[in-house]
Amino acid sequence: MRIGILALQGAVEPHKKKLLASGIEAVEVRNSQDLLGLSGIILPGGESTTMILLLKINSLWEPLKDFVREKPAWGACAGVILLAKSVISPSQQSLDVMNIVVKRNAYGRQNESFMAPIEPTRNWIGAEKLEGIFIRAPKITEMSDTTNVLFRFKEDPVMVEEGHLIATTFHPELTDSDRIHNYFIGKCKKYG
Ligand code: GLN
Repeated sequence: MRIGILALQGAVEPHKKKLLASGIEAVEVRNSQDLLGLSGIILPGGESTTMILLLKINSLWEPLKDFVREKPAWGACAGVILLAKSVISPSQQSLDVMNIVVKRNAYGRQNESFMAPIEPTRNWIGAEKLEGIFIRAPKITEMSDTTNVLFRFKEDPVMVEEGHLIATTFHPELTDSDRIHNYFIGKCKKYG
């Protein structure tokens, strides 16, 4: 199975290592041709405004929008901001595919980035906590009835899913655990 990682900017390499370690062919996506034959795509952390600019320059905005409407996609941090239906603080364009509203940089500036245990909800398989790394992370401030919350940090939803789509406001690629990557690989097998 081939899973793509949007590779215009941001934390591409650690996701690649995780996928390769699970025996998945990891494809760096830089243009629309790279989307062909993928079972899913990871939109990594980075800087969402820069990613939007580069997506447009590389004529990838519309093809990516079409792809994530149908195929599994996982937005991590900046990737969540791309997948959301709307973005605040400040507002910006998005792929408008997940029924969530996202507030950018909601925990403060770069030097207020932090690590903290995050709690699984009843909807997650397994009761163990995970270590969440939050780097200038966004907050999911609104969801729909069909948004399924899988992990929380305090009251905040930090991992949610809607059918073939998942969003994590933290960075699972920077920790030792493979649980979130394996969960996404499962989605790609189911929907990809
Ligand atoms: N603050 C970044 C943004 O708004 C996201 C940070 C991240 O991906 N770690 O795009």
